[in-house]
Amino acid sequence: MVDPATGERLDDGLVLWFPAPHSATGEDVAELHVHGSRAVLSAIMQVLHGLGLRLAEPGEFTRRAFLNGKLDLLQAEAIADLVAAETEAQRRQALRQLDGELGRLYRGWSDRLTRVLAHLEAAIDFPDENLPPETEDRIFGETAALTAEIERHLADGHRGERLRDGIMVAIIGPPNAGKSSLLNRIARRDAVITSPIAGTTRDIVEIAVDLQGYPVVLADTAGLRDSDDIVEQEGLRRALRRAEEAEIRLFVFDARCPDQGQGAAAWPGPDTILVANKVDLLRSSEAAGTAVMPGLDPGIHDAAITSLAAVAEGVGAHGTTPWAEGPRDKPGHDEEGTTEKTLPVSALTGEGMEGLLSALGARVAQTFRIEAPVLTRARHRRALEDAAAGLRRATVAVLPELRAEDLRLALRSLGHITGTVEVEDLLDVIFRDFCIGK
Ligand code: GDP
Repeated sequence: MVDPATGERLDDGLVLWFPAPHSATGEDVAELHVHGSRAVLSAIMQVLHGLGLRLAEPGEFTRRAFLNGKLDLLQAEAIADLVAAETEAQRRQALRQLDGELGRLYRGWSDRLTRVLAHLEAAIDFPDENLPPETEDRIFGETAALTAEIERHLADGHRGERLRDGIMVAIIGPPNAGKSSLLNRIARRDAVITSPIAGTTRDIVEIAVDLQGYPVVLADTAGLRDSDDIVEQEGLRRALRRAEEAEIRLFVFDARCPDQGQGAAAWPGPDTILVANKVDLLRSSEAAGTAVMPGLDPGIHDAAITSLAAVAEGVGAHGTTPWAEGPRDKPGHDEEGTTEKTLPVSALTGEGMEGLLSALGARVAQTFRIEAPVLTRARHRRALEDAAAGLRRATVAVLPELRAEDLRLALRSLGHITGTVEVEDLLDVIFRDFCIGK
């Protein structure tokens, strides 16, 4: 590579030329493959600058590809997701979207809606010629079918968005049960301060981990107990809210106090995993033949194991606890079946951690192994909700003109997702999050 002005050699490299329209952006593209040192880069950049070239804006290549019809908006967003993907499941989901799976689904709906609208407009334009009743029925039937399909797609428990942003797992349970210690164990680093004084975790601490290829955000919460301390009360409020919002809960309690496990009854179902922590204390008390802790009954081990089993069976059937109003009812989740059996662990020694992680991983995989294309962004969700609302209005509208207008609005909402209609104002928002060079 040579400076055209001075003839000076800049580097030995490779130049690839992609003529329009066959490049990634659809424009003429030249790629320079050079040695990456700062001196080489700065010399080459200076020469390119002299030729009137500039650095690309973040996401500019993808934006140009979109504007030149090489990608739809969903695929452009998939590139951003692919660049940001941290786990296997996120990578797979982004690739599927890049392949155009979601685009095909939404465009399929748009095409059907366009046909419905065409039939309806024909009826409006030629009012004297009565539409055959079967055409009228077809318009109604297809509108209702589309509404149902979009609504089903929306009622997916936000799985695609969760997979993109991280699956929430809340660690809950009474104070001092070892929630922070367990989080540290799972995260394999000292991210949360553990302390023997009850009520130290007053706010929520989150850690993102890769659990068998799935992005999981673990949240350590304040211990569930009644308190007069205002800060602790606020922590408790947040803990309960987080437990409500989480996809999966690890309910941690002290294995020496199996009755504490009853607290999990507030969140029945397979998405609450019972964890009996500190089993090392049971073992050591057994080995010594005496209680490790003052006042602990030497026979507690057997009694504890028996009642742990009872807890596991009893939860799910039991009613409320002092901390929660009652059984949860979460859409999109399997509420059948009782809570899984109690998993014995020791956050201190690491005993039982493999069993816990594989139970958690299995639960995550069961909920998030996604076969059909799913929604991945709140932006798509809003547009689909608007589309479904338009379709619903259209089915009840009396005047054909109003029905047509509602269908047109629904069609526009679908077009916003793939980028076929008026998206100029959206583009800045979408491409702003890209990194330079994409
Ligand atoms: P949290 O309030 O539920 O978050 O509980 P912490 O994680 O702060 O733990 C409370 C206390 O129990 C600390 O002194 C921990 O060191 C101790 N602890 C936690 N897990 C275990 C365990 O598995 N075995 C033993 N022996 N002690 C534990």
